[in-house]
Amino acid sequence: MKILVVNAGSSSLKYQLIDMETEGVLAKGNVERIGIKGSVLKAKGNGKEKVYEQDMPSHKIAIELVLKALTDEEVGVISSMTEIGAVGHRVVASGEYFKAPTLVTPEVIKTLEEKTFELAPLHNPAAATGLRACMDVMPGTPMVLVFDSSFHQTMPEKAYMFGIKYEDYKAYGVRKYGAHGTSHKFVSQEAAKYMGKKPEDLKIVTCHLGNGSSISAVDGGKCVDTSMSFTPLDGVLMGTRSGCIDASAVEFLARKKGLNAADMVTYLNKECGVAGISGVSSDFRDLIAGAEQGNTRCQLALDMFAYQTKKFVGSYAAAMGGLDCIVFTAGIGENTPIIRAGVCEGLEFLGVKLDKKSNEGKNTGAIREISAKGSKVKVLVIPTNEELVIARETLALV
Ligand code: ADP
Repeated sequence: MKILVVNAGSSSLKYQLIDMETEGVLAKGNVERIGIKGSVLKAKGNGKEKVYEQDMPSHKIAIELVLKALTDEEVGVISSMTEIGAVGHRVVASGEYFKAPTLVTPEVIKTLEEKTFELAPLHNPAAATGLRACMDVMPGTPMVLVFDSSFHQTMPEKAYMFGIKYEDYKAYGVRKYGAHGTSHKFVSQEAAKYMGKKPEDLKIVTCHLGNGSSISAVDGGKCVDTSMSFTPLDGVLMGTRSGCIDASAVEFLARKKGLNAADMVTYLNKECGVAGISGVSSDFRDLIAGAEQGNTRCQLALDMFAYQTKKFVGSYAAAMGGLDCIVFTAGIGENTPIIRAGVCEGLEFLGVKLDKKSNEGKNTGAIREISAKGSKVKVLVIPTNEELVIARETLALV
């Protein structure tokens, strides 16, 4: 079966067509500037790329164009859209309404639209728009929602609760949900495969370090804790997000800066993190270059990021009562040796011993072991593949 994976944003849409027999990517692409002047689709297939520059006032028109590209003479890989067996949609927030990937029915759409939008106001409405666009253009093709938070549904109550009034948790669903679940699931399973062990026998900390970063504790194949919480703002500081901060400091800052609550959340999401600390960039390549030239704020941003990530690794080892493996993944995790070194430094007491040369080796796009021989804890760099997980979950449901 061929499965189309769709990741719709408010003005963008990424897709991959995956052949589930080989799990190979047949075609992929992304649409940018939907509903904005200058819309463009960059479609890849058959080893070629084609750029479609045309007005796409809606997600529906964008999906129609994606299907045109998939059946195109040059970059097309299928002869008709009936070859697409199902569509898997990435959805950021599930709240407590969806515990697992879900086959779309009218009832499911109603819940998605009426209950979850307020949990991820930037992302979930976009996913719903993408879903409706696909349903319009591909009536009869099964649609599946795969939630970023699904993998975290196994967290115990003691891990996902905030220390607020229990009645307020019950009334408003304010608790930890987590994010990047498909990535944490994928890399933890890959780590077990690589180690030749069953996931049930392993205690793994997965570090998804990208522009958005989260760390998870995966005990026996199940997520037992994760660093992002009610929204992706929590946990370590990130590209432009502050990470965890004393709520009273937020109120204090809001008063000083004359910002209301909503503006304050935007400030914490968009103007803080390593970009705010360095004053230079949210991109770690720029921070590393800055630090090498003696910029102390770039160095501070790098040090804070590695230190905060390390603290999650240590606390999750404590939460699980042991540690067999640390996995680094995503843009920073896969590409930044000094961050991996900074995270692992000082964790020798847990049995972590990094191999300096392997850590500094080239990113090959394959799994790399960067722990030293004899290290009790394996340290692995594993390229993430969220689209493949979405396709697998979709296949499992249809
Ligand atoms: P997201 O999916 O959250 O947007 P990614 O996982 O793609 O983010 O990570 C993007 C980030 O990864 C960039 O902002 C940059 O900080 C970092 N990054 C990507 N490539 C490199 C590299 N070669 N060296 C250092 N950092 C990199």
